[in-house]
Amino acid sequence: MKLYDYIIVGAGVAGLYAALNIPSSKSVLILSKDPLWECNTFYAQGGIATATDEADIPSHIEDTLKAGAGLCDKEAVEILSRNSISVVEDLINRGFPFDRDADGNLLFTKEAAHSKPRILHAGGDATGRELHKFLLSQTRAKVLEGVIVVDLLIEGDTIYGVTIRQGGKQTQLYARCVIIASGGVGSLYEYHTNAKKISADLQGLAALKGLQLMDMEFTQFHPTVFVYNKRARKLLLTEALRGEGATIVDEEGRRFLLDYDERGELASRDIVSRAIYRHQKEGHQAYLDFSNFTEEFFKKRFPTIYRNFQNLGYDVPRQRVPISPAFHFMMGGIATDTWGRVYGMRNLYAVGEVARTGVHGANRLASNSLLEGLVFSKRAVEDSLMLGNDWKMREFSPKQFILTKSGDKQRKQLLRKTMWEKVGIIRRRSELQEALQIVTDMEKEDIGHLLRLRIASAKSIIEAALARKKSIGAHYIEGE
Ligand SMILES: Cc1cc2nc3c(=O)[nH]c(=O)nc-3n(C[C@H](O)[C@H](O)[C@H](O)COP(=O)(O)OP(=O)(O)OC[C@H]3O[C@@H](n4cnc5c(N)ncnc54)[C@H](O)[C@@H]3O)c2cc1C
Repeated sequence: MKLYDYIIVGAGVAGLYAALNIPSSKSVLILSKDPLWECNTFYAQGGIATATDEADIPSHIEDTLKAGAGLCDKEAVEILSRNSISVVEDLINRGFPFDRDADGNLLFTKEAAHSKPRILHAGGDATGRELHKFLLSQTRAKVLEGVIVVDLLIEGDTIYGVTIRQGGKQTQLYARCVIIASGGVGSLYEYHTNAKKISADLQGLAALKGLQLMDMEFTQFHPTVFVYNKRARKLLLTEALRGEGATIVDEEGRRFLLDYDERGELASRDIVSRAIYRHQKEGHQAYLDFSNFTEEFFKKRFPTIYRNFQNLGYDVPRQRVPISPAFHFMMGGIATDTWGRVYGMRNLYAVGEVARTGVHGANRLASNSLLEGLVFSKRAVEDSLMLGNDWKMREFSPKQFILTKSGDKQRKQLLRKTMWEKVGIIRRRSELQEALQIVTDMEKEDIGHLLRLRIASAKSIIEAALARKKSIGAHYIEGE
């Protein structure tokens, strides 16, 4: 039987930064699906939001609260912003290479709904890739790759460990403290920007174990995504492009967003997503236009996007790229307090995108999520170091899960299509009811455990969307 001080589920920014903050005297095991880099952190482009200095904290808080449409937890937002300066300093002290100008000053960029430039980036538009590589290189913890967590070992109000599936075998691993850092829910949707393996397993487990999920109706759709590639993960065109001057136009080159909001391209994501969605429904095309950029600037500031789209045959920045909205980020998740403690549980934490800390409210301010992963994972570790000594080992009898059954692949596709069409950018009560019926029927079929977890997560989104009768933030409902 294996016993660790900590098991961390997930090797994205939240899981890796949690591990970095745990004293080296503790045994730590990080679990990740395969391959290690296939997480949302790796794909993050724009950067990390931070208050630029003490004087900027009130404005960062204000922008975050405004984006959250009044539904943020104000205390959590204050904690996020106040701690932003120290976590960024910590990264710099550890040697993380944020982009700088020729004089060595940090380069801050602006993204939608921020009132000033306060986004730090690395590798131009490869912040996530750089950060993931860097955090992995710093970690001393044992990392187990190619593992799927399929159960949480919970008895009463205490967690004792997890069940994993690795190489066809299911094993129980025990820990005094479990930190869930398993990311969002992207694969529930037909069109999404997320890493392929981000499939809401732990949100599903939480639902089945009776843990509280909150704000699940708040699903953010990114407005500028190239959805015409074959892969499950669609290609994001970062907000920073618009921050730097790219425009959104229709087939006639008209900036139609100005018909919807005077801020045009810099309106919040949900407004821009809905405007594009509606314009497309009226039979128009939508494009991201880079004609304000020189090739030299584009290549240097957005090297990954430049390379990806040149490879796809688009002569950027001269040629515009067709875009559509796609699912991007989950504001809700496993409900925690501001120390990452899962409500009602001992020794169990949730951090990063899987958690609902209250910092995002009804809508996330751009680039606040890498920051959330850094700030709250550190706090969760700080809190865990003060846990009492009354945890006693308890062994669980082995339970085998059948992970997939025949027909699951088709059902998964139906689930994704249902979520996109009926639980998407613009929702109707009748369609949400239809979606609920579809998943409730599916749940009664002879299905595998992994699909059951997805369904549990999807159901929590649909039920939350039905419960929220009025549009607010990223939840937009119209008609019956
Ligand atoms: C294309 C894209 C661009 C983005 N750009 C930005 C940006 O510029 N700035 C910003 O702040 N945010 C951005 N975001 C959002 C941000 O990247 C994520 O919210 C954040 O990285 C989530 O980090 P995380 O550590 O919580 O989860 P992730 O980085 O997604 O990591 C999740 C981990 O959990 C593991 N896992 C999941 N399920 C299981 C399981 N059952 N068993 C074992 N392991 C499991 C995965 O293998 C992975 O290791 C972007 C997101 C995307 C998709």
